Amino acid sequence: MRFADRIEQLPPYLFAQISKKVAAKKAQGIDVVSFGIGDPDLPTPEHIVDALCEAAREPANHRYPETEGLPDFRRAVAGWYERRFGVTLDPDSEVLSLIGSKEGIGHVALCFIDPGDVALVPDPSYPVYEIGSMFAGGSAYHLPLLEANGFLPDLDAIPVEVAQRAKLLWLNYPNNPTGAVADLAFFERVVAFAKRHDVAVCHDGPYSEVAYDGYRPVSFLQAAGAKDVGIEFHSLSKSYNMTGWRIGMAAGNARIIDALMRVKSNLDSGASQAVQRMAMAALEGPQDCIAEHNAVYQRRRDRVVDALRTLGLRVTPPQASLYVWAKVPDGMTSAGFAERLLDEAAVIVTPGNGYGPHGEGYVRLSLTLADDRIDEGLRRIAGLPALA
Ligand SMILES: *Cc1c(COP(=O)(O)O)cnc(C)c1O
Repeated sequence: MRFADRIEQLPPYLFAQISKKVAAKKAQGIDVVSFGIGDPDLPTPEHIVDALCEAAREPANHRYPETEGLPDFRRAVAGWYERRFGVTLDPDSEVLSLIGSKEGIGHVALCFIDPGDVALVPDPSYPVYEIGSMFAGGSAYHLPLLEANGFLPDLDAIPVEVAQRAKLLWLNYPNNPTGAVADLAFFERVVAFAKRHDVAVCHDGPYSEVAYDGYRPVSFLQAAGAKDVGIEFHSLSKSYNMTGWRIGMAAGNARIIDALMRVKSNLDSGASQAVQRMAMAALEGPQDCIAEHNAVYQRRRDRVVDALRTLGLRVTPPQASLYVWAKVPDGMTSAGFAERLLDEAAVIVTPGNGYGPHGEGYVRLSLTLADDRIDEGLRRIAGLPALA
């Protein structure tokens, strides 16, 4: 058998490595507490599951869906964008259903990247942005996200010849893994940059509803001119605890939405209609669950931040996202620190360099484990000697 080069080039999936380590510890009979993976532990709210049960009994939903999504689903997305962000979208040309946003994020590279092309990708970032470009035969130019810049990329630091060549710019706020947020002024600079260099913008915003202390994240599509240059990926996964159901959406520039629809219509057959009905119930139904979930995460965030500070780590509590991004003590590496926590406390954290070279020196802790597991993890961390 002769596999394609892209299979060889693929870095080992970050969480697959972590799962292996957990399995090895478990095989030794050790109970491991994992702050590794961002996957809400709370169940999907009941009214959303009810919508699935009802939709499952309708024979119309037993057949192939349309790639672009049900008209009612697209209208629900447009209505939500209008209510939540004051952004007006045409449900027929500016909204597309996705089988979870990861699917669209991976596939959109095929709309822009030919062999040899370049995408601008934040470092650190969600690995799919770079891998999508690689699968399409292109490569990524890394935009360092530095603490000194609030983990926003410095667009002026991109060499002009790179900006001119690049076809795609990836962004993600509220950010995974740093927990950083962006404001409208930043997104307006992004629109100006994209117009100056004819670069398409893909903003990934699955954490827009996961925020703390009263903070309300903005949408990239609120920036003036955003729809001229880009799209936003969104997902029901994090907002409504729906990672298992696989439903998300892309919204924004009609030409990009059309190109992505054409790619997808040749590769998949759309998101399950019954699951689209769940998404409609989520977007159009009562929104109390969001504040309830965020209150749970905020309590967890505060306790995790306190515990890490006691251990000698420098950490800024995130205003949004499901992650605490902590600077490891001087003289330690991300991997060294993570290994020490695993060996001495059987606690898993994600080494920051797994998200790109500029993640070195940090670890990420997810807030999506049950409260009693957090208690146990923090108790173990508290039992360690201070590291700095
Ligand atoms: C969780 C996550 C997604 C993917 O969510 P789906 O479940 O595929 O909709 C996309 N981007 C980032 C940054 C994420 O953390």
